[in-house]
Amino acid sequence: MRTIAHFVDGKPYSGAGDRTAPVYDPATGAQQAQVRLASSADVDDVVASAVTAAAAWRNSSLAARQKVLFAARELIAARAPKIAEAITAEHGKVLSDAAGEVQRGLEVVEFACGIPHLLKGGFSEGVSTGVDVYSIRQPLGVVAVISPFNFPSMVPLWFVPVAIAAGNAVVLKPSEKDPTAAVLIAEAFADAGLPPGVLNVVHGDKEAVDRLLEHPDIKAVSFVGSTPIARYVYETGTRNGKRVQALGGAKNHMLVLPDADLDLAADAAVNAGFGSAGERCMAISALVAVDPIGDELVAKIKERIATLRTGDGRRGCDMGPLVTAAHRDKVASYVAAGAEAGADVVVDGRDVTPDADGEGFFLGPTLIDNVTPSMSVYTDEIFGPVLSVVRVPSYEAGLDLINSNPYGNGTAIFTNDGGAARRFQYEVEVGMVGVNVPIPVPMAYYSFGGWKASLFGDSHAHGAEGVHFFTRGKVVTSRWLDPSHGGLNLGFPQHT
Ligand code: NAD
Repeated sequence: MRTIAHFVDGKPYSGAGDRTAPVYDPATGAQQAQVRLASSADVDDVVASAVTAAAAWRNSSLAARQKVLFAARELIAARAPKIAEAITAEHGKVLSDAAGEVQRGLEVVEFACGIPHLLKGGFSEGVSTGVDVYSIRQPLGVVAVISPFNFPSMVPLWFVPVAIAAGNAVVLKPSEKDPTAAVLIAEAFADAGLPPGVLNVVHGDKEAVDRLLEHPDIKAVSFVGSTPIARYVYETGTRNGKRVQALGGAKNHMLVLPDADLDLAADAAVNAGFGSAGERCMAISALVAVDPIGDELVAKIKERIATLRTGDGRRGCDMGPLVTAAHRDKVASYVAAGAEAGADVVVDGRDVTPDADGEGFFLGPTLIDNVTPSMSVYTDEIFGPVLSVVRVPSYEAGLDLINSNPYGNGTAIFTNDGGAARRFQYEVEVGMVGVNVPIPVPMAYYSFGGWKASLFGDSHAHGAEGVHFFTRGKVVTSRWLDPSHGGLNLGFPQHT
């Protein structure tokens, strides 16, 4: 059995821990490799390497760091097909979707190439006689990035390029379910000239995460995953004195007003509901249809689902499998619970015949109508290809439903009324809003993040907030001595 090693100090590292986890090919159901799970002692070794590397890396010039970022951009772009293949093999999403996430991650590398501009501080000349004040931002030291299974390349790339460009060293702990993309990215940075130890990948589970959260040399933690773990990471990390941004789960609503273009809305609902088999934190899982368009919209979505092909992501299918058998079974159990609670299962993905060999973890696109807010298919984050339709009598009722939900990651409104869209953008309590755009993932130079139970901490990912998160501010007040300004004065400094 192939063993996937950690990547530390610019090379593969086995560590002393003897635990491993299986890595599956979700399209066939077969185990294809095992990944090492770091022990606490392994994490200590990795952090020690990173501490040494960080001390030298922060002394490198902005020009030198920028050069590495530009080179990494080229290498990741050149290796994107290989990274996408690894993602499809371990995660299951179709190849075009895997390539898409690498591209979105690359945009953050491109953003970080502008680090000299992003780190510019302020300068005020002559705040007092002969006194100047200026602000600078400095790296934190060693930071940890802990990422989920559903975007094995894009989520690490939300943080790693910005953290490195700002002069930090990084310990990246990717999901143990699909660990290879993170290693390929770290190899690309190493080949781009990043000094050994500045970007390390340590594989692991709770033991590794817990050690990172308590290690005194880890100064900040960027976490992305489910809400219960995000809350735990935020509370544990901050209790240990760390800066933490913990992005959690989601339940994203798409509100369709009666004046919307229903063909556009139906296309969008299918793309955003079933892309990546619904395993996206920005997937649409609740379609909120304002009366009287529910029947027509459901019919249009049903028609479109009938054209989708589910199967092995390497075969040009529209939708791949779920990540594990256990996850597939859990998602299927929500469909059963919805039917039992009285919702109408319009398209049942449990009946799918996938285009794949073996016993892959498949569930076809599923459409459930007449879902009510008390049903588990509505209340829980399902994270699978299940689109629930909730019918509401008015815009106000739809808005109230969205704002009452504990999550606040993404949402979208579909309408041809600019005034209604503008009102929605103002009133909705969600961090990322789409207007006739179902998956409003911000560009790298804006920041990504939700509200409420979808994000713990103050900072969103990448953009200006990312640069701020990975640096500390310092303000310098300076006076170059002039003999006329000497003398004792014990009073509080005042400006003259
Ligand atoms: P997860 O919470 O199970 O795992 C995330 C990370 O935490 C992994 O690295 C995992 O190894 C680690 N982990 C798991 N259990 C742990 C524990 N008990 N203690 C400490 N660490 C632990 O999430 P997942 O299933 O990999 O990813 C899917 C979830 O991530 C969904 O809830 C999805 O909405 C969310 N997500 C959110 C965003 C966002 O931007 N808000 C983006 C992507 C994914």
